[in-house]
Amino acid sequence: MSSKKDIRSLNEDDLKEILISNSFKSFRANQIFHWIWKKSVKSFDEMSNLPENLLKFLNDNFVINFIKVHRMQKSSDGTIKNAIKLFDGYIVECVLIPTNDRITACVSSQVGCSLNCKFCATAKLKRMRNLNPDEIYDQVVLINQQGIEHFDKPLTNIVFMGMGEPLMNYNNVLKSIEKITCKSGLGMSPKRIVVSTSGVPKIIKKIADQGVKFKLAVSLHSAINEKRTSIMPFNEKMSLSELEESLRYWYDKTKKIITYEYVVWKGINDTDDDISALVKLCKKIPSKVNLIQYNNIDDPNFIQAPMNILNKYIKTLDSNKIKATIRRSRGQDIDAACGQLANKL
Ligand code: SF4
Repeated sequence: MSSKKDIRSLNEDDLKEILISNSFKSFRANQIFHWIWKKSVKSFDEMSNLPENLLKFLNDNFVINFIKVHRMQKSSDGTIKNAIKLFDGYIVECVLIPTNDRITACVSSQVGCSLNCKFCATAKLKRMRNLNPDEIYDQVVLINQQGIEHFDKPLTNIVFMGMGEPLMNYNNVLKSIEKITCKSGLGMSPKRIVVSTSGVPKIIKKIADQGVKFKLAVSLHSAINEKRTSIMPFNEKMSLSELEESLRYWYDKTKKIITYEYVVWKGINDTDDDISALVKLCKKIPSKVNLIQYNNIDDPNFIQAPMNILNKYIKTLDSNKIKATIRRSRGQDIDAACGQLANKL
């Protein structure tokens, strides 16, 4: 690991001060930032409009800790999974999901996860640390580049649905979104970003107060409190009623509807009572439902319910005027689908 400072941890004013105190012109900071954030260069030597003495100064004092692709796998359906090596050796995963009209990046926000959702492969990895904003931003830049290289299309959408719980690292997630959406970064619309949380009520209220513009999705999986606790044990401390209250608050502040992500498992949440509870919850707060096809993680307790049960969910939600879709699983053959990210190399 290098002892030099990562130049990307500085803001432009800090860099200007450093340059001036070392007898360089302050406008060079703007040029350097353009190379780093707009062009995503990985070394100072690529900054072709800087003088030799400034390049030497940068190389002597700073590094650019751009993430490194440790391994890339391509699925038969075109999905690309990247195992990313961070500057301290930890590995996280990010996924490119191509569809007819979209290139979507599924990005990670933590190394491992501290929540222990029973159905999730990432839960088996201990949470080691939060990703910093640049490490999140870099995953987005990487997938944008891969979209252009492999599909001739730039990135169109981002979902925070990779490894980790984004709201347990919300400061850094918000900073990365600022960078993704600002003109000096990728300039993407926040409407194309979905932050998917397992539901951290306090933080949901906090970000609603901050007037964030991205969309919110909640991994729900059951609208019955005890059942949800058995699937997602942290629900015992942050109960469904608390979550509901925070989502009401979110909607009242942002006027953005909530998407519930919902997997239906055989013998777990496949009864009429489960469907009724979901309908009841959806009627309380404007929302829609994504029924996600589950991907086996070698746990016999969690088996995808058959299609007739999913259709029953869809029919009942539909007849109650609640929008619901079934989301096809992508990248299953390379363990890149939802709930499968677990650094299996
Ligand atoms: S589903 Fe999300 S929050 Fe739950 S353990 Fe997996 S990564 Fe963490």
